[in-house]
Amino acid sequence: MSLLGAAPAGTPAPQPRLRLRLRPAAETAVRRGHPWVYAERLRERNREGLSGELAVVYDRNDRFLALGLYDPDSPIRLRVLHAGKPVTVDDAWGRARLAAAIARRTGVHDARTNGLRGVNGESDGWPALVVDQYAATLVLKLYSAVWLPRITALTRWLCEALRPARIGLRLSRNAAPAFELAGFQDGQNLWGDATDASVVFLEDGLRFWSDVVKGQKTGVFLDQRENRRRIGAAARGLDVLNAFSFSGGFSLHAARGGARSVPDLDISPHALEAARRNFALNAGDAGIAAARHASIQADAFEWLERSGDRFDVVICDPPSLAKREAERAGAIEAYHRLAMHSIARVRPGGLLLAASCSAHVTPEEFYAAVTEAAHRSGRSFGEPVYTGHAPDHPATFDEARYLKAAFLPFEPPA
Ligand code: SAH
Repeated sequence: MSLLGAAPAGTPAPQPRLRLRLRPAAETAVRRGHPWVYAERLRERNREGLSGELAVVYDRNDRFLALGLYDPDSPIRLRVLHAGKPVTVDDAWGRARLAAAIARRTGVHDARTNGLRGVNGESDGWPALVVDQYAATLVLKLYSAVWLPRITALTRWLCEALRPARIGLRLSRNAAPAFELAGFQDGQNLWGDATDASVVFLEDGLRFWSDVVKGQKTGVFLDQRENRRRIGAAARGLDVLNAFSFSGGFSLHAARGGARSVPDLDISPHALEAARRNFALNAGDAGIAAARHASIQADAFEWLERSGDRFDVVICDPPSLAKREAERAGAIEAYHRLAMHSIARVRPGGLLLAASCSAHVTPEEFYAAVTEAAHRSGRSFGEPVYTGHAPDHPATFDEARYLKAAFLPFEPPA
């Protein structure tokens, strides 16, 4: 029996293959490549399935439609692995699919950049699974227990393909209970014996610490790399406010690009401390040594509203403001207010970078909130530049396109 077809440990007598049929709209969506089937869109099932069991989907004409991982504990009841012609999901399949993800990233990884997303979930054909690479360390983040029966195979495929010194495991809140019952822990190593929480990696030659054991997501927000590059290229001689600064990624790029001052603004003392450590790590760079770096510990929503300070560039990259669909309208309103207060902090001739990582807010809604705030400021501004994910964060379906950013250049006084 193939590894991926194997029933989870502890399963009693062999059972017939789990077979599913879907409602017509779901069938069409899966045929077009959508990777999720919600529970209410299952039409028929030959028996109850186990978590992580491989299920075969048949279409309305009884032909093979797809293979997926059954997830009885999630509203996303089936996580599609493959749609189209029948395949055998075995070791060779796993290796080939991983090799395809690696090939997709040719050009992202080089001598100056060794921090990147190696596997971006569904959009790379690996549902509920992310791999971030930080130099020789891989962080495998799992968002569902469906991978528990395959954790050994996954570890082996990653070792074979990427030859890491270490693979750390990170578990989402949904995935953790099942893994913990099986003896796994969030933050543990799956491979390698390093025990240090932080690793150093490179982004465009800049050195960054990443806390791979406890850090947010897998340690660092790699998805903003292209936007950080843009800021770095535009910062010479300028005062750059980095609101929601986390570990100082934008400020480091700006400082190396010749910014005059780079204040970080974050509510978390740990984030500000991480940024100071990153600045120390790069103190050998002339621009970074010369730029005035400051830490402001405050609630950025309040600080931006109340402060009278002005900057040439204001970066505003808050955490997700809509974790659920029900929060969408409130989040759009919050983005609008945040953009208004950020714009008030931008000097004439300056630049606003407003970003959103809320999957429930569409790019159109976010861009409208930001440009509406700019109109309301009564100031003239040039054509905005809109950007999305870095190329190592491919997004093949709507729900995966969470990151959007607007660069808004304000006109200098006439
Ligand atoms: N721009 C960063 C990522 C930002 S993540 C990068 O490129 O890496 C969001 C950050 O917002 C986190 O560091 C979090 O501590 C901070 N944060 C959350 N709520 C906040 C608030 N109310 N005021 C200020 N910072 C906040």
